Amino acid sequence: MHITIVGTGYVGLVSGACFAEFGFEVTCVDQDKAKINQLIKGEIPFYEPGLESVVWQTRKNKRLHFSTDLKESVKSADIVFIAVGTPSRRGDGHADLSYVFQAAKQIGEALEDYTVVVTKSTVPVGTCRKVAEVIRETKPKAEFDVASNPEFLREGSAINDFMRPDRIIVGAETEKAKAHFQKLYRPLYLTETPIVFTNIETAELIKYAANSFLATKIAFINEIADICEKVGADVQEVAKGIGLDGRIGRKFLHAGPGFGGSCFPKDVLALIRTAQEIEAPISIVESVFASNERRKKAMATKVIKILGGSVAGKTIAVLGVTFKPNTDDMREACSLTLIPELQQHGAIVRSYDPVGRPVAESLLPQVHWSNNPYEAAQGADALVLLTEWNEFRALDFERLKSLMLAPIFIDLRNVYKPEEISAAGFDYHSIGRSVSQRKVNSIKTVAVA
Ligand code: NAD
Repeated sequence: MHITIVGTGYVGLVSGACFAEFGFEVTCVDQDKAKINQLIKGEIPFYEPGLESVVWQTRKNKRLHFSTDLKESVKSADIVFIAVGTPSRRGDGHADLSYVFQAAKQIGEALEDYTVVVTKSTVPVGTCRKVAEVIRETKPKAEFDVASNPEFLREGSAINDFMRPDRIIVGAETEKAKAHFQKLYRPLYLTETPIVFTNIETAELIKYAANSFLATKIAFINEIADICEKVGADVQEVAKGIGLDGRIGRKFLHAGPGFGGSCFPKDVLALIRTAQEIEAPISIVESVFASNERRKKAMATKVIKILGGSVAGKTIAVLGVTFKPNTDDMREACSLTLIPELQQHGAIVRSYDPVGRPVAESLLPQVHWSNNPYEAAQGADALVLLTEWNEFRALDFERLKSLMLAPIFIDLRNVYKPEEISAAGFDYHSIGRSVSQRKVNSIKTVAVA
């Protein structure tokens, strides 16, 4: 079976490399010539752990090919995946489907024999059928089926997620198309991965519902964290306490600075817009979006407050700028809100990120980049831990303290235990457990005394 993937970004490249690893013949196509040239030379255009070795191995076995020639690549394919971007449309937040329909038209022009055309991009309900219309208009006699096969991989653990997914969702409506998917995902039968066949609309909606639900969990625990700070509770214990309830589950209950990334913000917004348009507004998700926007801004206010109400002329070290660890993706990263806000209030920001700098540099002008956490901390009035890269999990407190002007540590990911870092002499602040809790504890101590 020959697979062609249109769009060689995070999803397209990871899917292509993993399908090739399964043993299929795969061609990854992109209109970005520079990207394809890089890939042909063996360079991976973005950071994703483990991807380079899968690409290298499958290239060596001659199962993975790269091309800019969509027509030629589609001609010989049994399955064509559309994995192009669907960013938020400027102005209204709808998913911008122009890349999807452009790809559909180009695929339509190229089709020769029966082919299954699959949307792997995250697309609003109804898009896959529109893709079919575009292909039919382009080539009325084309023999094809459309299907929806949304992708759930996470950047940073994309290879593992693709190879060992929790489930595969396939919206396909003919036996012939379903048979193609059975063949395609047969390598996963060994791991007993559930493959759920649905109609096309259901598959499209599952992706948005899943992301919106996960985003809701994050926004929920973030607001619980705010309550914790006021009443002296510990959000991590609350998360554990509720997460042990099997109906709730422990994952996605980590309080932090708000969600970012290439998927949650845009997918949540796209679902909101679709729901409004069809007059079935999804007010819970609307609140989640608004809450998250407020939260990202509130993080700068928090830092400023900790520094006594003004950061003008102060140096702040920010550790981690990517939207999460193990990726260089900066899309909707919290740093893009926090750092400019601090700079606007007169702060000098020094930053270090293990891999994010090349992508972040143009997005965060006026940041002073450092080569390690200690260089960033040199002369700083406060340190903000913003992205929880592993290398920030065992910082040398003594060394940091000796380098900083003031030992203020603001841990927006709750990486450290308050007692441990306070004992090291830091004025430590985190999310949903620090300041008030200590105040409450000291009130208790006074009462006992
Ligand atoms: P991306 O921006 O990294 O890559 C998209 C690629 O498509 C680009 O390289 C672009 O040049 C190419 N492209 C656009 N139009 C083309 C055309 N007509 N022909 C050939 N190439 C074309 O995007 P991504 O992050 O891989 O996301 C792709 C889709 O998958 C989106 O809908 C996204 O929401 C979804 N998704 C992403 C993730 C993730 O973690 N990134 C996870 C699940 C789903």
